[in-house]
Amino acid sequence: MPATVEVLRAYRFCLDPAEAQRQALARYAGAARWGFNQRLGVLVDGHRRYLQEVAWTTYSDDVDEAGARALVKARGGVDTPSLAAQSRELTALIADHRDRAASDPEAEGAWLHTINRHAIMAGMRNADRAWSNWQSSHRGERAGARVGYPRFKKKGRARDTFSLFHDVKRPGIRLATYRRLRLPNIGEIRLHDSGKRLGRAIARGDALIQSVTVSRSGHRWYASVLVKQQQPEPGPTRRQRAAGTVGVDLGVKATAALSTGELVPNPRVKRQVAARIAKTNRALARSKKGSNRRRRLVARLGRLHHLEALERARHTHALTKRLATGWADVAVEDLHVAGMVRSARGTVDAPGRGVRAKTGLSRSILDVEPGEIRRQLDYKTGWYGSRLHVVDRWAPTSKTCSACGWVKPKLGLGERTFQCDECGLVLDRDVNAARNIAALSAAVPTEGGDAKARGGPVPEPPVGGHGAGPWKREGHLGGHRSGAIPNPSPNAPPRGKHAA
Ligand SMILES: [Zn+2]
Repeated sequence: MPATVEVLRAYRFCLDPAEAQRQALARYAGAARWGFNQRLGVLVDGHRRYLQEVAWTTYSDDVDEAGARALVKARGGVDTPSLAAQSRELTALIADHRDRAASDPEAEGAWLHTINRHAIMAGMRNADRAWSNWQSSHRGERAGARVGYPRFKKKGRARDTFSLFHDVKRPGIRLATYRRLRLPNIGEIRLHDSGKRLGRAIARGDALIQSVTVSRSGHRWYASVLVKQQQPEPGPTRRQRAAGTVGVDLGVKATAALSTGELVPNPRVKRQVAARIAKTNRALARSKKGSNRRRRLVARLGRLHHLEALERARHTHALTKRLATGWADVAVEDLHVAGMVRSARGTVDAPGRGVRAKTGLSRSILDVEPGEIRRQLDYKTGWYGSRLHVVDRWAPTSKTCSACGWVKPKLGLGERTFQCDECGLVLDRDVNAARNIAALSAAVPTEGGDAKARGGPVPEPPVGGHGAGPWKREGHLGGHRSGAIPNPSPNAPPRGKHAA
């Protein structure tokens, strides 16, 4: 009996909802938006009152702003209702809607009771998260791109999405058949793809559904079912061990350069779709507002963006799977992607230098999504028994000669070839960097177990009585790879290979 590890992983399905179900899904997404906006409204209001209090204190206590902030906090701050308090309020509101609808079926605005409350609560929790992301980013405590002040979600602008949590007492999310997913209150929705893999894992008793997130992308609806799954503890295969370490330089010119000398090109289809998108955009600009033609063009644009995203996702997944299955150790650089993208634009007072050249650069950085590649490597190395090493982002991997260690004093962004003045090595700039990354990885402890800290899609325990069960009972996941939290992924799990 091989040792097993418990991992959270997602099964993503494309849905084929009937028309009535389509409407129900849209209503649920609307309810999640409503929950988000309700919660955000409370937070924004609390913040406004706090700022007023601070302004008043600078005047009344004759202190500067920092002093006033400290004083207000010392006096207990301002009272902003907690999420739990708002959850209780929601319960009362739902009961009120139900009563009104019972006494008058035509009652206007009585709809809350028709929605599974988990969907609304998940929306509220998202607002809390957006708020704290903004706050920590504002204070400079958060890595990555600056997070803006949370905006209210508007229908049509915000993404249509909602989440439902599995209730252990009343399990509402389940696969009715391999082709039908049952959602509480909404019913059985036909799957566009087969749910056989998930169905079998559940039947074997080694997968437990945790939650489902439903979202619309273009004209399609998707369901991402998050399960807690037992998997044989993976270890590198003989082939992976023989291959050893691969260094990966996530790049600009190509998606990635490998220490083997291979350059993985950027996805090519992108440009073709981009041309069609540009064409559709031009047609859209000429079309009349409110016309049927305009509506058709908007729909076409949505489909094209969706196609493009799918293609990019396929490319990224293929690469990360190949890396995680092909080598025992995968080394990447801890790129500060947000910084690389942001720095080009500069500010109004200090515009960035060479903005035009860098805009092109930033665009290709965004195309290949190094952050996403890194995130996928994080959990896929866990799946496939390889290890991920993350090399210090300040190591001069581009400027150092991978053959003799000589460090070039200056290397322009335009120099695509690395030439060593010391030993005469001539090598593609990124392959040279990849080799250095591979060499440095030996000194770096492997990554793992902290995927949560980097913002993987970790579902949070629902607030309030309902559904709190599974989270409380099983507070923490076992296994050395417990942090491997996959996102919706079209890729297969490493089942067969490790099956006992
Ligand atoms: Zn050299």
